[in-house]
Amino acid sequence: MNFLTSGGNPSFADPDQLLEVLQPDRCPLCFLVRAYIYEHLKSLLDESVNDPATREKLFHSKGFCRRHAWQGVHQRQALGMAVIYNSLMDKWLQELPPKTRRFWQSRKAAECPLCESEKVRDLTAVREFVRCWSESDKLRGAFSEKGILCLPHLEKALGQKMNASARKTLREAGEKALKRLIKDLNEFLEKQDYHRSQESLGKEWDAWIRAVRMVSGEKD
Ligand SMILES: [Zn+2]
Ligand SMILES: [Zn+2]
Repeated sequence: MNFLTSGGNPSFADPDQLLEVLQPDRCPLCFLVRAYIYEHLKSLLDESVNDPATREKLFHSKGFCRRHAWQGVHQRQALGMAVIYNSLMDKWLQELPPKTRRFWQSRKAAECPLCESEKVRDLTAVREFVRCWSESDKLRGAFSEKGILCLPHLEKALGQKMNASARKTLREAGEKALKRLIKDLNEFLEKQDYHRSQESLGKEWDAWIRAVRMVSGEKD
C-alpha cells in the first residue's frame, strides 16, 4: 500500500478501542498517533521505496525530517532506508552548485511526508476522541478513573465542536487528571528541599518525566 499517495488512514472510531489504551500516565491520543506513524513508516520502507510517486515526494522534501529519518534508523529498516537515501544522495550531488538552477535549488523543500501524515492523523484522532467522548458513558467513566490527556491534546479536543455539557465534563476530567500529576510534581519538588532530602521518594519519583510527556509529548 502506498501511504504517501493514498493517505492510508485506518480508523479507531470505536470507543472500546480508546478504552483499551487509557492509562493513568500516558495520553491515549499521543499513543495512537505514534503507533500509526510507526506502522506508516514501516509499510513505506517495506513496500513503497521503489514506487515512483513516493520517491518523487521524498525528493521534494529532501528525505525525511531529522526526527522521522532517525525513527527509520531506530526501527532498523536498513534496506528501505538504504534505497531511499542512496537515490537522494545521488540526486543531491548532481544538483550541487555551480550548476544552472534546477530541481532542488529552484524550490523550497516540501514538508516531510511523515510530518504531513502525522498532522492529518493527529487531527482525526482528536475528532474521533471528541465524538466518542460525547457518545460513550463508558469512556467518560473509565477516563475519570484512569485516563489522562496531554495538554496539547486536551486543548485541541476542547477546541472541537461538541455540546456544552460534553465540553464541560471533558474540561473537568482533563483538568482533574493533570492536577493529580501537578500534586505529585509538587511532592517531588518538596523532597528536593534540604530539610526533606532524606525522605525516600514514592510514586512521585518520575513526576518530572510525566510532566514532560504531558506538555511536550512522547519520546520518539
Ligand atoms: Zn497527547
Ligand atoms: Zn517528519
